[in-house]
Formats: sequence, C-alpha cells, structure tokens
Amino acid sequence: MGKVISVVNQKGGVAKTTTTLNLGAGLARKGKKVLLIDGDPQGNLTASLGYVEPDAIETTLATIMMHIINDEEIDEQEGILHHEEQVDLLPANIELSGLEITMSNATRGKLIMKEYIDMMRLRYDYILIDCMSSLGMMTINALVASDTVLIPVQAAYLSVKGLQQLIRTISMVKKRLNRKLMIQGILLTMVDFRTNYAKDIASRVRKSYGSKIDIFENIIPLSVKIAEASAEGKSIYKYCPNGKGSAAYENLTREVLENEK
Ligand code: ADP
Ligand code: MG
Repeated sequence: MGKVISVVNQKGGVAKTTTTLNLGAGLARKGKKVLLIDGDPQGNLTASLGYVEPDAIETTLATIMMHIINDEEIDEQEGILHHEEQVDLLPANIELSGLEITMSNATRGKLIMKEYIDMMRLRYDYILIDCMSSLGMMTINALVASDTVLIPVQAAYLSVKGLQQLIRTISMVKKRLNRKLMIQGILLTMVDFRTNYAKDIASRVRKSYGSKIDIFENIIPLSVKIAEASAEGKSIYKYCPNGKGSAAYENLTREVLENEK
C-alpha cells in the first residue's frame, strides 16, 4: 500500500511545486513507484514536468474528480502521463478551478479525492499531491486523502500566523475526517546562507510550535539552478546533478525514506 503525502501551504511561492517535483523524482531514483498529482488549477507542476501547455491537456484531475462526483467508473490509467524520469503525473489545468463550487455542493464533497487515491494507492509506493495555495475544498480533499502533510516554508518570509492557521486546518481534518493524518514535517526552503541562519529560523519555528511538529533536518538552499530546472521541465538531479540543490533534495528524499511514519 502506497503512502500519500500532501504538500501544503496556503502561502504561494514557498516551493510546494518544486518540492513535489524533486522529492517525487528523488523517490523514483531510489526505485520507488511514484505518482505525482497536480492539485492546482495553475498547472505549475504539470508545466514543470515539461507539459508546457497544461490548458491544452484533455484529461486531468478535474476529469477524474467529475467522474467520481457523477458516480462514473474510472480507469486506473485514465489521464496518467508517464514522465521520462520514471514518475507518473496526473496533470491539472484551469478546469480544476470550476470544481471548488461543485465539490461544495456535492454530498461527501470532501471525500472525492480520497476515493481516487484509495484506488491508486495499490499501484504506487508514493503518491505526492501538489496542493494549491489555499485552504479551500481542493486542499481539504487532499488532506482527507493523505497519510501525511509536508509543509514547505520559505525561510526568509516565515509567516507564523499563516502556519498557525494551516495547523488548525490540519487538526480539524484529523479530528473530523481523517484520524490517521500526521504532519510529516516543516521543510525550510530557499534558505539564503548569506543572510539567513537556518538554525535561527528552525529555532523560531520550534518556539512557535513547541515539540509537536517535526522540522526536517535537511533544508533547501536558495539556488537559481533549482528554479531553472523546473523551467526546463526537469528535476534538479537531471538539470544540475552535482550542485547543492541536487544534494539537498537527495538528502530530503533520504530523510523521508528513513522517517517512515
Ligand atoms: P509554490 O508551489 O509554493 O507556489 P514554487 O515551487 O512554484 O512555489 O516556487 C516558487 C518560485 O520559486 C518558482 O519560480 C520556483 O522555481 C522558485 N524556487 C523554488 N525553490 C527554489 C529554491 N530553492 N531556490 C530558488 N528558487 C526556488
Ligand atoms: Mg505551486
């Protein structure tokens, strides 16, 4: 049975998509069978994997979710794209934005993605969901369907208020809809070692959340190469195998594999 990780933060630009891509590709390089789900109508994950025009893609997460809402059969292969870096992708595009309201009106509207994920779990070792930058129905659906939540936080713009709100939402989902949901950890991203002292930021986060939430030991440095890789439709391992970005995401991958929970 595969493990399902949602990559969540309602704040945009904190490296959710970048982390989904590079952690996913990292796990695939370790021999794991990986499915990435683009849960954002912006389709950034889809574009970062080289599918440059997400809106031109016919079958996406929105298609699958509509099947479930309408009680239609789903084929397990439907909509899945096979990327050359050995990860599979269920893409998303602007069609997903119409679904928030549809889901709000559907009975069991918070359980739609779970129905799909529970079916796909049997086929993969890891399923990573790249959530959109909001705590709306789409993200709630992802949390209900997941085992753990990975929270990327942009080190230089730590938003304590935002994190508190996010953690409240996760607790609410855990209490009412998904008892087994755990926080995998907070990941510090885009750390600029010239100006931020990663240890100071980590201790600030720790102070705010006590010992309740794990913070990944590995942090992701600010690196132009990481941004460039996504623009090229590649993982950092392919784009710049010997750089610090590649090493950081490889170490994160190892940490995720070691901290099986
Ligand atoms: P989110 O999905 O949370 O909105 P993204 O993954 O799209 O965030 O990242 C926001 C921007 O920052 C993108 O342009 C991305 O390429 C860039 N970026 C992500 N990680 C890094 C990093 N470690 N160093 C430099 N730029 C990064
Ligand atoms: Mg994103």
